[in-house]
Amino acid sequence: MGTTDVIDPATGAVFTTVPSLGSEETDAAIDRAAKAFGQWRRVAPGDRARLLRRFATVVEEHLEELALLEVRNAGHTIGNARWEAGNVRDVLNYYAGAPERLSGRQIPVAGGVDVTFHEPLGVVGIIVPWNFPMPIAGWGFAPALAAGNTVVLKPAELTPLTAIRLGELALEAGLPENVFQVLPGKGSVVGQRFVTHPAVRKVCFTGSTEVGKSIMAGCADQVKRVTLELGGKSANIVFADADLDAAAAAAPGAVFDNAGQDCCARSRLLVQASVYDEFLARLEPAVRAFRVLDPSDDSSEMGPLISAGQRASVSSYLDGADLAFQGTAPDGGGWWFPPTVLLARSAADRHWREEIFGPVASVLPFRDEDEAIRLANDTEYGLSGSIWTRDVGRALRVSRAVETGALSVNSNSSVRYWTPFGGMKQSGLGRELGPDALSSFTDVKNVFLATGE
Ligand code: NAP
Ligand code: MG
Repeated sequence: MGTTDVIDPATGAVFTTVPSLGSEETDAAIDRAAKAFGQWRRVAPGDRARLLRRFATVVEEHLEELALLEVRNAGHTIGNARWEAGNVRDVLNYYAGAPERLSGRQIPVAGGVDVTFHEPLGVVGIIVPWNFPMPIAGWGFAPALAAGNTVVLKPAELTPLTAIRLGELALEAGLPENVFQVLPGKGSVVGQRFVTHPAVRKVCFTGSTEVGKSIMAGCADQVKRVTLELGGKSANIVFADADLDAAAAAAPGAVFDNAGQDCCARSRLLVQASVYDEFLARLEPAVRAFRVLDPSDDSSEMGPLISAGQRASVSSYLDGADLAFQGTAPDGGGWWFPPTVLLARSAADRHWREEIFGPVASVLPFRDEDEAIRLANDTEYGLSGSIWTRDVGRALRVSRAVETGALSVNSNSSVRYWTPFGGMKQSGLGRELGPDALSSFTDVKNVFLATGE
């Protein structure tokens, strides 16, 4: 077994090391998970529910510890990190309601009785990226466990600490051994075994579209179930009739939150031409005032990028681009980058088209509703987006026309654990969260009982 150094992105310094599993250790863990499945699926629904609620309570008891780990390991602001740990607790509580409600149907047929069951799949492999280590882990393991599956989870190499801690807290809460195992290691080793090992019956992957496609192709070999949450290049569409003050005040947070390392980032700002200058005049002070500070500072709105490589990649988008204005960032160690607004010359600009995954917004004017919809949809992605208007009819028309999975009107928030989340087009496949997520962690079994009539 090797090890991986864990770096504080606010300083660039190594502060701990964690194990990095090889393929034999991964196989052994998957075998243990497959064995544990036999027992876990037979735990009575009410007992499984109680264990998940207990897990949520233990997460709550360790909320500050988990949040501080994420500040250190991922550079998340303390405010965000507390929300993220709280989200794990909430998602566990939400899906704790599921084991006792996972009912099938009784369907009228001739000659007997027909019933359906939602059977768990077996071992579920969850592959987590570095941008939201806690929530993305929880969106996978909470419904997977609730439905009666056992889980092996691979955190990103850059951000393994909160996942490892959640694995320990699950045991502390009383989940049986090997029901939920966290396996730190490389994507090409641990993650790949989830794809190729026949005992893993489903892979939930969040990360880049490129790796997501290779995982989907690999899963085809065993017709393995797959959920994909991939990249985005979402549009924030501001119509002339919108509350421009509110839209401009909210726009920085919609793209700079988590230093723009958010698949839902509204990184394409489409502004109706008749209010373009007026809107930019309101946006500039909001961008300059965005507080990029030490992420452990309670008033910090944005921390550093995750790595030196990510900073180099983000910087490359400024080459030859028209810079509108920038905010500020601390200098010194760590992977800091200031909030940046670029003016797109056309929809062909590289910074307009590619997912930057950093604190960079691109702005482009549009003439009318039709052009706004055409520009918003001119991308291979389709994850989130926002529409700012006071016209209810337009809000609904444009919501139906924009091809993305999670839209908001007069708001930039797309994640609520009660509601489905996921992408259209190349942003993903399947939906997480909400009332329907259970169905992607179960298979329907139909049973006909002849009654001799
Ligand atoms: P990535 O390579 O897609 O990594 C995501 C996860 O997949 C990590 O746990 C990674 O492990 C694992 N992985 C990598 N290659 C794998 C393979 N062949 N088989 C199985 N698992 C594998 O993403 P990244 O390199 O960290 O980031 C690159 C870009 O992807 C970002 O700049 C951003 O544009 C996009 N991204 C999007 C999201 C999102 O939420 N949609 C999240 C993260 C990144 P390792 O950590 O060991 O590599
Ligand atoms: Mg990668």
